[in-house]
Amino acid sequence: MRKKIVAGNWKMNKSLEEALSLTSEVVNMVRDEVRGDVEVVLCTPYIYLPVLQKYVQEVDRISLGAQNCHHKASGAFTGEISASMLSAIEVPYVIIGHSERRQYFGETDALIAQKVKIALENGLKPIFCCGELLEQRQNEDFIAIVKDQITAALFDLSAEDFGKVVIAYEPVWAIGTGLTASSAQAQEMHAALRAHVAEKFGAQVADDTTILYGGSCNEKNADELFACPDVDGGLIGGASLKSREFTNIIKSRM
Ligand code: PEP
Repeated sequence: MRKKIVAGNWKMNKSLEEALSLTSEVVNMVRDEVRGDVEVVLCTPYIYLPVLQKYVQEVDRISLGAQNCHHKASGAFTGEISASMLSAIEVPYVIIGHSERRQYFGETDALIAQKVKIALENGLKPIFCCGELLEQRQNEDFIAIVKDQITAALFDLSAEDFGKVVIAYEPVWAIGTGLTASSAQAQEMHAALRAHVAEKFGAQVADDTTILYGGSCNEKNADELFACPDVDGGLIGGASLKSREFTNIIKSRM
């Protein structure tokens, strides 16, 4: 049975004080209100991760994630954070290949493949992001474009390593725009991506792969999106910055 996950991507938001109160509110609400087997991941700015670790340790089903890592093990890369550093502070997840990293930091499929590999070598679970641009959605081949992103970043992995990866389908036109994929559009893509994984790794691995939806998911549309058979949860940006709304989204995935 594949995992259900709701992950929050805080991006570069929240003061330290706000980060502490948001985390303790989410921890309390999840502990008191969320039943079932959904796993919650808070992907916060790097600098808050060690501070927040003790808050999330209170509840088994909440853990932390980073929003990126460097593709090399160590070296003269001023300002960067390595996968082994995240692993050393016991951060289990790392987002890799977010569209903002692709767009603003020039991350290519080849670089993202290296990041996935080094994250896995260090025991981290990558949340690998893929998704088409608006102009690509208007092209007949938009599903093939997203499949190609998966092929480039993940298909050189062994089946065992692939099994540790969470895929997040995030149509770029829906991220931070208030435009959401309809549940039919999300289901169509998720089913196609699962079939693509099955062709490479077999039906069992595909069936066990968690595929999250991301892109303006909020407390109003989460129920409908999460009801799709191939949508296993969400990667939530803006709506993860409000404890009540984020918890309501988590409850939609119970
Ligand atoms: C994201 O950045 O991963 C995201 C899904 O953002 P938002 O929910 O704000 O669209």
